[in-house]
Amino acid sequence: LPAVAWESGKPLSIEDVEVAPPKVHEVRIKVVAAGVCHTDWEYLYEAEKGMKFRPFPLVLGHEGAGIVESVGPEVTTFSPGDKVIPLFLPQCGECERCESAKTNHCRKNWANTQVGVLADGTSRISYQGQQVYQFLGVSAFSQYTVVPHTSLAKIRSDAPLDKVFLLGCGVSTGYGAAVNTAKVEKNSTCAVFGLGAVGLAAVMGCQVAGAKRIIGVDINPDKFAKAAVFGATECVNPKDHTMPIQEVLVKMTDGGVDYAVECVGSPSIMTAAFESTKDSCGSCVIAGWTETGVMNVKVEKILMGRTLRGTYFGGWKSVEDVPKLVNDYMKQKLKLDEFITHSLPLDQINVAFDLLRTGKSIRTVISL
Ligand code: NAD
Ligand code: ZN
Ligand code: ZN
Repeated sequence: LPAVAWESGKPLSIEDVEVAPPKVHEVRIKVVAAGVCHTDWEYLYEAEKGMKFRPFPLVLGHEGAGIVESVGPEVTTFSPGDKVIPLFLPQCGECERCESAKTNHCRKNWANTQVGVLADGTSRISYQGQQVYQFLGVSAFSQYTVVPHTSLAKIRSDAPLDKVFLLGCGVSTGYGAAVNTAKVEKNSTCAVFGLGAVGLAAVMGCQVAGAKRIIGVDINPDKFAKAAVFGATECVNPKDHTMPIQEVLVKMTDGGVDYAVECVGSPSIMTAAFESTKDSCGSCVIAGWTETGVMNVKVEKILMGRTLRGTYFGGWKSVEDVPKLVNDYMKQKLKLDEFITHSLPLDQINVAFDLLRTGKSIRTVISL
């Protein structure tokens, strides 16, 4: 019984849908745990503001973990019973981008999954004969879903699904933004804007990389204690200052930070993050997600040697790297438990959306 989004701006409703068997190169999975990411919220409630149009009705959710239920024809790398994490970013292993070490942007089935359908142009989910679209090709807010075998990571059998689901989006994104995209260096000074799951994971990445100063920035001071757990050395609330936050940071750091990571999804904060880096070699990474927003970049700031880069899924090669991140968690090299603040059954999913929007939760684990 998945949670269906009938139209934008309206809460999800639990409906009795049908999930068809997997077609060629597809896998049907039983989703066990899922998280509500800001991107789900943004798409449901701000579709016209920051996100491109995607058709409704749809089943949201793109951060989940589960077990393979059945496999379609020509699937050789998965079997029923395997523990898996579905991926909104595929890794086909064959395209030019998969072969390049410079990018993780595989485009297998891309145009289709962006509009909520699989390779053959249809979704596997339907309600009384009507097609229900699959958000980013995943749809984790459903007990069963079908994904292409190139959008699925097989993970070790002893991994706790109610923790490692976080690696399906938020934690991998923020952690990778710091370690892969920014390539944070030892003894550097960093600032992370936005201390939700993505931002806290970026803080963790800065700490693992050996940063000396990690400054958390958020307008909600309730996030600061958690940020310290992940390695923030100090936190700043822009609301406590009359100066723009970038000027506050430049002053605090005597010229700007080496690395800034934006994990809010707001163009004006992206500008602030960029301008908080030091000239000559400061580097700003955008992890926050908006699809139609426009960011303001002063030419002088980039001319003086700063770098601006975006990150999608933290730069990880999804199919091969997610199992490694699961191993890192199992070896206690990576924190996951600390991101989970609430736990709810699927029929209370709208409560989980509210907890995220009001800043009360970091991640709620939804059990299916
Ligand atoms: P979240 O809602 O849990 O966290 C956002 C945080 O930003 C909150 O703590 C909020 O208080 C803070 N914030 C809001 N306004 C602020 C301001 N003016 N200054 C400083 N902080 C402010 O969200 P999340 O799930 O952690 O996601 C964060 C962003 O990352 C979203 O934009 C999401 O869409 C994006 N995202 C991107 C990718 C990717 O692949 N690039 C993947 C997942 C999520
Ligand atoms: Zn997400
Ligand atoms: Zn590819």
